Amino acid sequence: MTYADTLNSSLQEWENWVLRRHKKIPNNKGLFVLTCMDERLPIEQVLGLQPGDAHIFRNAGGLVTDDVIRSAALTIHGFGTREIIIVTHTECGMLGATGEQITEKIEQATGVKLSEIALDPGLPEFRLPAEAVPRWWKTITDVDEATLEQVEALRRHPLIPKDVVISGYVFEIETGKLRRPGHILANMVSKAFSR
Ligand code: ZN
Repeated sequence: MTYADTLNSSLQEWENWVLRRHKKIPNNKGLFVLTCMDERLPIEQVLGLQPGDAHIFRNAGGLVTDDVIRSAALTIHGFGTREIIIVTHTECGMLGATGEQITEKIEQATGVKLSEIALDPGLPEFRLPAEAVPRWWKTITDVDEATLEQVEALRRHPLIPKDVVISGYVFEIETGKLRRPGHILANMVSKAFSR
């Protein structure tokens, strides 16, 4: 192997990296991750992901919104993604208030009625009736239940093929550990003694 061969092979590798979408090369793990925007959740570290491994979508709560469906559909049908992982977390900001409270607060702060404006500036046709606005914020009351609901929402969605593997986890801010929804080890220990 000449030195030029070595150079050419590393150039080829670089070209494949840059032209991944063009060449229909999926991300390294064929993975789409949905998670919360919270700065206490270091998602790459939590899942052991390296640059290039996954498409990562972060929003308030790590909850399924229209743009999650849009992005998941694009990465699955266009870019070879075969698996989705949802990571929510304890102490999430979306646990604290109701949609009604958030709507009231933001309408007061901005002086606009959310049902009267274009929520997506590129889609002025897309308006929500006033009664649906609180649900648009997507607040949650139980993070474990909410995680399972997000998994189900994606599984049931007609744009997500049935053979895409979808899993959900809760990241515990207090312990820095991931858990399966409902598998709260502290609770399980106390139950063992009460049997
Ligand atoms: Zn959060």
